[in-house]
Amino acid sequence: KVPTDLNLLANEFLRLSYHGIRAKDKAFNADFEIGLDEQLPKVTVVPQDIGRVILNLVNNAFYAVNEKSKLGIEGFQPKVIVSSKKTENGVELSVQDNGNGIPDSIKEKIFQPFFTTKPTGSGTGLGLSLSYDIIKAHGGEMKVESEEGKGTKFIIQLTNP
Ligand code: ADP
Ligand code: MG
Repeated sequence: KVPTDLNLLANEFLRLSYHGIRAKDKAFNADFEIGLDEQLPKVTVVPQDIGRVILNLVNNAFYAVNEKSKLGIEGFQPKVIVSSKKTENGVELSVQDNGNGIPDSIKEKIFQPFFTTKPTGSGTGLGLSLSYDIIKAHGGEMKVESEEGKGTKFIIQLTNP
């Protein structure tokens, strides 16, 4: 573990995800917004692991908004927002999208290994389970707020010892 600037990680992995999806899907069209706290303190983490978590969350978010945009809803503008803020003794990072949200009936299942609603070949169902384990191994918290039809927000909280 090393003291890490999560703003740098968030920026890097958001762009990596965005350009990765664009390269594969020419029709992909989504906005992203970054709202990073410039006073964010460093947190002592394994940067590769937290980077993976961020990548999983932004990949899921872009997938969700992209699926919704295929429905042809008038005026719908797909958007993913990544933001960070300082907390009492650590940081909070969130990844928010305006996709279709997570139905209540599957909310408890999304962190289970191999749970996926994506077609075969599109998802392994391991992203959230792995991400949850990584955050727990760092003594942090991971929460989800989602409203069907409106969107989803994943929140990660990490603190320094
Ligand atoms: P995968 O992406 O391979 O399906 P994940 O563990 O990353 O596996 O996610 C599990 C499931 O949780 C997804 O298949 C989807 O049903 C749901 N999910 C995750 N993130 C979102 C999101 N941002 N919006 C809507 N559903 C989501
Ligand atoms: Mg995933």
